[in-house]
Amino acid sequence: MKVVTTIDEVRAVRRRQGTATLGFVPTMGYLHEGHLDLVRRARAENDYVAVSIYVNPKQFGPTEDLSRYPRDLERDLSLLRAEGVALVFAPSDAEMYPPGYQTRVLVTGVTQPLEGAKRPTHFEGVTTVVAKLFNIVRPNRAYFGQKDAQQTVVVRQMARDLNLDLDIVVCPTTREPDGLAMSSRNKYLTAEQRPAATVLYRALRAAEALWRGGTRDGAVLRDAMRRVLDAEPLARVDYVSAADPLTLEEWEGDARAGAGALLSLAVFMGPTRLIDNVLLNDRPADE
Ligand code: AMP
Repeated sequence: MKVVTTIDEVRAVRRRQGTATLGFVPTMGYLHEGHLDLVRRARAENDYVAVSIYVNPKQFGPTEDLSRYPRDLERDLSLLRAEGVALVFAPSDAEMYPPGYQTRVLVTGVTQPLEGAKRPTHFEGVTTVVAKLFNIVRPNRAYFGQKDAQQTVVVRQMARDLNLDLDIVVCPTTREPDGLAMSSRNKYLTAEQRPAATVLYRALRAAEALWRGGTRDGAVLRDAMRRVLDAEPLARVDYVSAADPLTLEEWEGDARAGAGALLSLAVFMGPTRLIDNVLLNDRPADE
């Protein structure tokens, strides 16, 4: 496994790979099974796998957790070595955004609701760094987690709009045995908050059960999630949403027939903000 910190070194490795296919997994490090599941999928579908480890300052708001975001490069590298990764790119801020850097990549519509409404500069930071990473690594396929549902929609939109020549592959959310979605930020949870954090998935499952029973009224689904969350004193709701999975528009009435559903939520456990979602198909129960 080659570990490099400069763009020139990535390009040299890519030249040596010739026409072999490359799967790419962009991450912010502090890797867990969710990241490794993306790596395994990339391994299965490509000749080589590249992983980036970069805590991108541009996607953090001024009051967010950039300075205390967890990092452990040595542990990350040993996990990736065991997965047969060919290339790790772990650049510095100066390598990604040298003095004089002036460009931003901005996706408009689908960045506006949900996370974008709460974190106004977040997706601009994401699309800027992902576009740069795609240009540096030049993968055939890039792998993203359903855990960050809106991010997958935004990155797909960018890839489509900018005619990027790669496939975006979205992989299911990896969960702890008790249902908590794996996240580097789970490390922030106290011993008391950790079991309470299962409330996110429990809320989603409650609304999912209604959906499976035929409920298509967005307000009813959101109420169901909110009721479960409100019963957990350690949780503070940031938003709950029942939206069209493609446009991310909130349903104010009933879902469009056949549209499926993205149920998503953001919840503070103390200072730690957690997100989760479930993507539902609009199939009859007997299929
Ligand atoms: P991050 O390091 O948090 O930026 O995440 C890097 C990639 O891993 C993103 O595409 C995430 O959506 C994905 N990811 C993070 N957590 C999970 C999870 N629990 N299951 C699946 N993918 C995940």
